[in-house]
Amino acid sequence: MWQQKLRENFRDLTQLLDYLEIENRTPFTNTSFPLNLPRRLAEKIEKNNLHDPLLRQFLPLTEEHKTLPGFTLDPVSDCTFQKTPTLLQKYKSRALLITTGACPMHCRYCFRQNYDYQKAEWEEELAHIQNDPTLIEIILSGGDPLSLSDRRLKELFEKLENIPHLQIVRFHTRFPIGIPERITPEFIDLIQNTRLQTIFIVHTNHPKELDPDVLASLKILPCPVLTQSVLLKGVNDNLSILKELFLKLISNGIIPYYLHQLDRVQGAGHFEVPKEHGLKLIQALRENLPGYAVPRYVQELPGEKSKTAVNQRLK
Ligand SMILES: *Cc1c(COP(=O)(O)O)cnc(C)c1O
Ligand code: SF4
Repeated sequence: MWQQKLRENFRDLTQLLDYLEIENRTPFTNTSFPLNLPRRLAEKIEKNNLHDPLLRQFLPLTEEHKTLPGFTLDPVSDCTFQKTPTLLQKYKSRALLITTGACPMHCRYCFRQNYDYQKAEWEEELAHIQNDPTLIEIILSGGDPLSLSDRRLKELFEKLENIPHLQIVRFHTRFPIGIPERITPEFIDLIQNTRLQTIFIVHTNHPKELDPDVLASLKILPCPVLTQSVLLKGVNDNLSILKELFLKLISNGIIPYYLHQLDRVQGAGHFEVPKEHGLKLIQALRENLPGYAVPRYVQELPGEKSKTAVNQRLK
């Protein structure tokens, strides 16, 4: 059961450092955005290796306390685009529902780590969606929408199905990467038996995240599966890792959708990769992989009408 797996997550830094046989503890610290890591991911971290790409994504480093110019609490201006406390709309035709603040894992560079999550029954949100016929798609985000039980998701789907102008429900999730058991028969049933088209977008940054169980859970989804990744220093900022990641995805029928330039959230400065380097990587990927295996390299610029392609001009 996925709920049981979730309860077994590492949440105590000392316990995890013991488990990883890390002797030098000075690089690590507790922070207000607490450690939260599924066992499956912890098991993949190489023992006593401070440079492990999974360790870097999930273990809080003292570097997070550094404040840097340009790095803020709400780098993408979520707050400015709230239609209601849990419905964000930045772009035409699609809006994003913050379904929950809960996540199966805490990624240190998360741009929404300071978001003021409100518990909601989505009444106000659903009324807003109902009253806006230009909306064709609702993105379920968070937090992680798969933190909700299948029963709650079903209730939400039933309400969305009743809004005639809606055609698509999109999941933005990282859940199966840590706990693939989350893709339950009930969940499959839900997306198979709705008039709404489901699109599944998984957040994954490194080929080590994709073991046979994780890939098998994504393979049984009866809908298109795409991915988004964040370009992260010390995690995936080199050609061979990105090539391996995207090849592994396409050879399992999964399409890389976005590669995001880091959103400049406070405490994540040590993850930033210069755009010049990102552009070089993308160019090299284009030369090495089929076109459909190379994601769009984008950044989120508050106030723009869509995600913005990173290009020479934006250096
Ligand atoms: C990224 C994002 C979307 C989705 O954008 P697409 O380009 O359609 O994938 C929608 N709403 C918000 C608020 C976003 O940040
Ligand atoms: S899973 Fe997504 S929302 Fe949750 S901490 Fe990671 S990046 Fe943030």
